[in-house]
Amino acid sequence: MSERTLLMIPGPIELEPEVLRALARPQLGHMDPELTRAFGRVLGRAREVFLAPGGQPLVVAGSGTLAMELAVANVVDPGDRAVVVNTGYFSDRMAAILERLGAEVDQVAAPRLGEVPDLGAVEQALRRAETKILTVTHVDTSTGVRTPVAALAGLARAHGALMVVDGVCSVGGEELRQDAWGVDVVLTGSQKALGAPPGLALVMFGPRALAAWRGKKAKVPSLYLDLAEWLPIMEGYERGAPPYFATPAVNLILALDVSLGHLVAEEMEVRFARHARLAAAFRAAWRALGLGILPARDELAANTLSAVYYPEGVDATLVGKVRAQGVAIAGGLHPAAKAKYFRVGHMGAMRANDALAAIGAVERALAASGHRAEPGAGLAAAQAALAIP
Ligand SMILES: *Cc1c(COP(=O)(O)O)cnc(C)c1O
Repeated sequence: MSERTLLMIPGPIELEPEVLRALARPQLGHMDPELTRAFGRVLGRAREVFLAPGGQPLVVAGSGTLAMELAVANVVDPGDRAVVVNTGYFSDRMAAILERLGAEVDQVAAPRLGEVPDLGAVEQALRRAETKILTVTHVDTSTGVRTPVAALAGLARAHGALMVVDGVCSVGGEELRQDAWGVDVVLTGSQKALGAPPGLALVMFGPRALAAWRGKKAKVPSLYLDLAEWLPIMEGYERGAPPYFATPAVNLILALDVSLGHLVAEEMEVRFARHARLAAAFRAAWRALGLGILPARDELAANTLSAVYYPEGVDATLVGKVRAQGVAIAGGLHPAAKAKYFRVGHMGAMRANDALAAIGAVERALAASGHRAEPGAGLAAAQAALAIP
């Protein structure tokens, strides 16, 4: 891949130069005062980014999947009932994790691909029996569908269940207000809308989740997943005197410190609005090119990525053709429609220029694949949506 290939997949994403420079810093020890200060800042900044001033953050070396396991292994006991709101690939993964933990998993699926499960059906599932947790994927990266987290959190609370949100493709890009919406656990990975390299799992436990952890009957089945091991470490880094449990990914912490600094400086409200604007420009471009998207309605479409059906006569070779134009996009992921669509990430520090480069590359590749559209139609629609106010 040329060093000038623009990375527009739904994570990992293009990184700001200052973030990359943090990775190339001379190695610091894991107890070095500079690393300690950076780690402490990361935890404080995470509370601002998650909009969870009263939360307990956890930052552990591992991918987003580790964050999923950390989030539920510390609150669920074997035999507990879990309701999984299922919108696709990553909801399936959460159900599999919960089953491994010995939970009784009940799933509420969307009526069809591109839809979100009906709130009434979720409420019925919560009514059926006492439920320990309700889990939902905020943005399912396999379909580009965004779920109504605030409404689901309200249902969870009304039925005495903890609300766990997989925000791996949303935290830092989609509006998600953990405290205000009463979400008990939010998890993410460093490489998506947070704009850092892959390799760090982030989890924010709210007060009710911590109480559930304290009330847990069974031991957490894995030492590396155990909040009891990690809590003193996180508290230590915030206090400026960390004890040792397992060596942190030092340079990734330095990089995340820089990227979270950018998020906080931009301000979350401004960031949410920027993502919404860029996403609208992408949707306008797809429409102008005569392409359909997986989400059934625009209100369900995520702001962090697009999932777009190939038009008639075009197949998955489009992804390689776009790559030849200097832009890396992703193919499909949902098993039910994998070969029928492509995905473009639009999160993090992405600018209007990047959006136009990506749309232009897709247009040229579509034309080369025989798809008929007015040259520049997608770009014109995006430019109109991106006009400087
Ligand atoms: C990417 C992703 C994950 C998994 O993260 P990894 O870092 O690949 O382990 C989980 N959930 C969602 C919604 C994701 O987008």
